[in-house]
Amino acid sequence: LNTDHPFWQIIRTVPDFPKVGIDFYDITPLLRSHVDAVIDALLAALPEGCLDEVDCLGAVEARGFVFASLLAGRLGKGMILLRKPGKLPPPVANKAYALEYGKDTLEMQNNLPPERVLLVDDILATGGTLNTAYELCRSAGHTVVGALVLLDLAALHGAFPVPVYTVLKA
Ligand code: 5GP
Repeated sequence: LNTDHPFWQIIRTVPDFPKVGIDFYDITPLLRSHVDAVIDALLAALPEGCLDEVDCLGAVEARGFVFASLLAGRLGKGMILLRKPGKLPPPVANKAYALEYGKDTLEMQNNLPPERVLLVDDILATGGTLNTAYELCRSAGHTVVGALVLLDLAALHGAFPVPVYTVLKA
């Protein structure tokens, strides 16, 4: 737990959103005031040499798109998009999964050359989203080298198949 990190002063905790009983961490104030510092912190969360093993970033809709885009710009690397269903033209593969507060599906194009992917999202909660992103990438022939998030709610999920790199933990 690193509750002394200065980003915690800026993140809002919203009780009972989007459902009663869920504490929602609203990271959008950080995007308003600290974009560069967030990207610096995400890059600093990666171990030395990790990026040498990464061909592209796997961006998870929607807040993952924001972080992955900013990281890709800094790094000069490309992105693969993991989207809500029906947004990407075929050929695509999709996978449904359970969320802390409902159900969702992720979809990705599966006609891309195999690459070494670093998954990027804002928050790892139950792990449903990133596990699904991981499985879709693997099924499409990619190698997933890890997952990079701003906040890892480690108590909500079990073991993840690849290393998780995070700035904040709760
Ligand atoms: P999981 O699938 O790991 O349960 O949830 C992670 C996904 O749901 C992420 O894509 C993340 O954006 C969203 N999410 C879950 N909980 C929160 C939260 O407290 N705050 C925010 N901003 N997003 C959340």
